[in-house]
Amino acid sequence: MQNDLTSKIPLRENMKNIKNIFSYTYKIDKSAYFLPALKILLNAIKNALSLVLSAQILEMIYQNSPMEEIIRPVILLLAMNFLLTMAASVLQEEWIGPIRANVRRTFDGNLAAKFQRMDYSLVDSPYVKKLYERIQTDNTWGSGMTNIFWDFDAIMGAICNLVCSFTVAFPILKIIFTSHSLQMYLGLVILFCVLWLLTLAAAKTEAIYHQQLLNNPMDEYPPEVMKEYISFSWTWIMRCLGGEYHFIKDIHLYDGHDLMKKYTSENRREQENLTCWSAKSGKLGGRLGLLRGSTDGLMLLAGYFISAAYALLGTFPIGSVIKFAGSITGIFRSLQSIDANYRSISLNARKQASTLEMLQISDEMYKGKLPVEKRMDNRYEIEFRHVSFKYPGTNQYALKDFSLKLRIGERMAIVGMNGSGKTTMIKLLCRLYDPQEGQILLNGVDIRKFAQDEYINLFSVVFQDFKLLSLPLGQNVACSMDVDQSLALESLRQAGLAQRLGSLAHGLDTYLYQDIRDDGVEISGGEAQKIAIARALYKNAPFVLLDEPTASLDPLSEYEIYSSFDSMVGDKTAIYISHRLSSCRFCDDIVVLHEGRLVQRGSHETLLKEEKGKYYQLWNAQAQYYT
Ligand code: ADP
Repeated sequence: MQNDLTSKIPLRENMKNIKNIFSYTYKIDKSAYFLPALKILLNAIKNALSLVLSAQILEMIYQNSPMEEIIRPVILLLAMNFLLTMAASVLQEEWIGPIRANVRRTFDGNLAAKFQRMDYSLVDSPYVKKLYERIQTDNTWGSGMTNIFWDFDAIMGAICNLVCSFTVAFPILKIIFTSHSLQMYLGLVILFCVLWLLTLAAAKTEAIYHQQLLNNPMDEYPPEVMKEYISFSWTWIMRCLGGEYHFIKDIHLYDGHDLMKKYTSENRREQENLTCWSAKSGKLGGRLGLLRGSTDGLMLLAGYFISAAYALLGTFPIGSVIKFAGSITGIFRSLQSIDANYRSISLNARKQASTLEMLQISDEMYKGKLPVEKRMDNRYEIEFRHVSFKYPGTNQYALKDFSLKLRIGERMAIVGMNGSGKTTMIKLLCRLYDPQEGQILLNGVDIRKFAQDEYINLFSVVFQDFKLLSLPLGQNVACSMDVDQSLALESLRQAGLAQRLGSLAHGLDTYLYQDIRDDGVEISGGEAQKIAIARALYKNAPFVLLDEPTASLDPLSEYEIYSSFDSMVGDKTAIYISHRLSSCRFCDDIVVLHEGRLVQRGSHETLLKEEKGKYYQLWNAQAQYYT
C-alpha cells in the first residue's frame, strides 16, 4: 500500500499504476480507448493537412497564381476542416462521451459493490480499514477516471502531433542542414534554444502546479451541492450508512444489495450532469492555463520570427514559414504536453491505486452452494461444536472451545460481561466470520457448505450497532426497494411505532434523517431501535437474534423491550444477548459466557442456586441497578 501521494515515487511504480488502471478500465470497455485514439488521429491529420494546405495557399498568393488555382486548396482546406471536425465531434458526442461515462459509472459501481459484497471478515480487517481510509484520502483530489481519460487523450494527441509535426518539419530541416551556411545553423540553434528554454519553463510551471494541487486538496463539496448530487456512488453508500463501514453487515444480513445498487446507479447518473470544481484547484488550473497559453504564444512567435528570417534569406519559400514555424513549435509543444500529462496521469493513476487494490481483493471465505432445506415447521437445529475464533490481526481468542446446541422454538439468553464473546458468537452464527477451529452445524451439516444467501435468510438480527439508512422508512423496514406495504405497517405496529407512524406525513415513504433529503425526519434512539426491530420482524426468519440493541436504555426499559419482543416472535427460535442479566431472566435457557468460554447453562432459578457460579456473581454485582 502506498503511503503518501505527495511523496515521489519511482518511474517503474508510476508505470505500474498507469498500466493497472488502464488494463482494469480497458476490460470494462475497450472502445473507451479505441474510439478516442481514432478521434486523436483525425485531429492530428487535420492539423498536419491544415499546415500543409495553408503553406501551399500562402505560397500561391506570394507567387501571384491565378485565383481559380488558389481556390482549389482553399476549398479543400475548408472542406477537410469541416468534415474532420464534424467527424471528431460526432465521435465524441455519440460514442466516446457515453462510453466513458459508462466506464466511470461501472468503475465506481464496482467499488461500491465490492465493498458491500466482500466477506465481512475482510471489511472488518485492519488491512481493509486502512485501505478504506486511504481511498477516502486519495479521492480527495480530482475527479477520478475523468482526469485519467483526459490525460490519456492529451498524451496520445501529443504523440500524434509530434509524429505529424516532425514529418512536416523534416524536409525543411533537411534544407537547413544541407545548406552549409553558418547563418542557417545559427538560426536553427537560436530557435532550438529559445523553444527549449520555453519548454523547460513550462515543465517547471507544471511541476509547481502539481505540487500545489497536492498541497491543496480539493475543497469539500458545499453541503447544498452534496445534498442534491452526491459525488460518487461510493460516497453515497457511506452517507447512507452514516459513514460507518462496519454497518455493511446489516446490508449483508438483510440482503440490502439491490437497494444500494438502485440508489447508487441513480445518483451516479444525476452526478454526471454536474460539474463541481473545487475553488482552489480551479484557481490553480486557471493560472496554469494562462501560463500554458503564454508559453505557447511565445513559442509560436519565436518560430515565426526565425522562419521569416529564413524566408527573407531565401532559404525556403514563404509558404514554408507557416509549415516550419507550425511544425517546429508543434514538436516542442508536443514534448511539453507529454511531460505535463505524464505528471498528471501519474498522479491520477496513483490516486486510483488504492481503489484498484480494493477492487482486486479476493474473498477468503469458502462459499458453499448447498441449498437450505425450506421447512414449514422451522425445525432447524444449530450446533456449535468446539468452536474457537480470533479476530483477524489479533492473538487473543474471542471464543474458545465453545460448544452449544440451540433448541428449536426455545428462547435462549446469552449473558456475560462485556467482551465475553456474546456478539462474536452471533457473528459466527451469521457467518460474518468463520471459526478457525471447530464447526457450526445446521441440521448436522457444516454451515460453510450452504449457499450464503439462503443460509443468511434463516436469521433476523438486530445488532447493538444496528444502522438505519437515510432512505424511506418502508425501504428501511424491508431493506429492499420492494416494500410489502401491509407487512411493513404491521411490523412497525408490532414494534410499537403505530402512533409515530400516524404522525408521518408521507407514511412509509418518509425519508429517515436529513442527510439525503431535507424533508427527512429525525428519529430518536428509541424509535430507531423499534424500526430495527420492525425490520427483524418483517424479515420473518426462523431465528431471531437480539444483540443488545437496547444497550443505551436503562435496565428496566431493556427488560420491557425484551419481554414484549418475546411475545412478538411467536414460535420462532430467539436468542437474546445482554450483559444485563435482568433483561433475560424470563428465558428458559440461559447461557453464561466468560472470557470466550461457556461457563454455565440453565434457567435463572437454577443458575442463581449455584453460589460459586459466574451467574450468581454477576447477578449480585448488577442487583443494585434493578432492585
Ligand atoms: P461481547 O459481545 O460479549 O461484549 P464481543 O464478542 O464483542 O464481546 O468481544 C469478544 C472479544 O473480542 C473482546 O475481547 C473484544 O475486544 C474482541 N473483539 C470484538 N470485535 C473485534 C474486532 N472486530 N476486532 C478485534 N477484536 C474484537
